[in-house]
Amino acid sequence: MSPPAPAEVEALDRADPLAHTRERFDLPAGVVYLDGNSLGALPRAVAARVSSAIAQEWGRDLITGWDEAGWWELPVTVGDRIGRLLGAAPGQVVAGDSTSVNLYRLVRIALGLRPGRRRLVTEEGNFPTDHYLLRQVGGSDLAVVRREQLRDALDGETAALVLTHVDYRSGARHDLAALTKAAHAAGALAVWDLSHSVGAVPLALDDDGVDLAVGCSYKYLNGGPGAPAWSYVARRHHATATSPIPGWIGHADPFAMEPEYRPAAGIRRLLAGTPAVLGLAALDAALDAFDGVTLDALRAKSLALTDLFLELVDARVGLPTITPRRRADRGSQVSLCHPDAPAVMGTLISRGVIGDVRPPDVLRFGFAPLYVRFVDVWRAVEVLADVVSSGRRG
Ligand SMILES: *Cc1c(COP(=O)(O)O)cnc(C)c1O
Repeated sequence: MSPPAPAEVEALDRADPLAHTRERFDLPAGVVYLDGNSLGALPRAVAARVSSAIAQEWGRDLITGWDEAGWWELPVTVGDRIGRLLGAAPGQVVAGDSTSVNLYRLVRIALGLRPGRRRLVTEEGNFPTDHYLLRQVGGSDLAVVRREQLRDALDGETAALVLTHVDYRSGARHDLAALTKAAHAAGALAVWDLSHSVGAVPLALDDDGVDLAVGCSYKYLNGGPGAPAWSYVARRHHATATSPIPGWIGHADPFAMEPEYRPAAGIRRLLAGTPAVLGLAALDAALDAFDGVTLDALRAKSLALTDLFLELVDARVGLPTITPRRRADRGSQVSLCHPDAPAVMGTLISRGVIGDVRPPDVLRFGFAPLYVRFVDVWRAVEVLADVVSSGRRG
């Protein structure tokens, strides 16, 4: 079968139920942006919201903004909006801090919830920050195994299985429900890093029985550079979850200024310091881009984009991919291998097709379903084919 012709690709955009959400973004003309898995594009609603948070809320409301402008509640109100994309009922997600800090906190919480067990299990090739933290927290009881060995590594000593759902390098996607079940069968908790999933891949954390989860907000959630990350703690663990960073904002009564720490009820106990209000305001406005969009619609568009990209690359470029061909095993990115990956990507970017590279030889292309069009996929492969076949790089 021959790959789709340009006219057929344009027809895909016309028939796309998510075609209208691209207008919710401010994208530079002439650019094909396939790096939304690293830094999401700018949603139009953000600039006005941030400038009003500065001029009106901060400038005029001054300290009353904590109550009047809802600053105090932002970590939880924004958390609940992210929760919809996680399949999490309200009251289980807080926004704040970075993914690294949040993962450290949750892994310590997981160890606290499984007294007598010390082992943490993760896989080779997990994101570096995850490895660094797990090595520090797990010490000699950290088991780093290959993907195929994960289930066998879970035993009666295991406190938690800690995994990234969609691999940042290959785009391979774990079976989150099945691995969560396997962890539980061993009496362990399941802790998921959803940085490359949220906003692009459907999630059902409550239904799947996930215990704890973290993720970024500057990737598919489009919260902007350094946007506050988020943490999910299943409600059944709230009463017993003990944060290793007992800050005053997570206290049951912060303004009582009590000498002893008492954790707040519910998810607020994860908070430590004063929330980053301006970053949360930007993220809150960014999440408007998901209004009225179902997780099924996101997934359908994401798969259609990655399918088309793979099909066109096979037909016109012929580079090998490390991204699974089976749809169920794929996130929302496609990674191709080329020995000269940095130079190839440099040339692509100079020609208006933006992706990124990961060592040693991976060209990464992310497909954000809210704003990437099918014609963008076509254009990206056209330029890639030219760059790879002509050898003109640099
Ligand atoms: C992007 C990413 C992070 C980033 O962590 P920060 O602390 O927000 O910089 C962490 N883990 C994974 C799996 C990621 O993909």
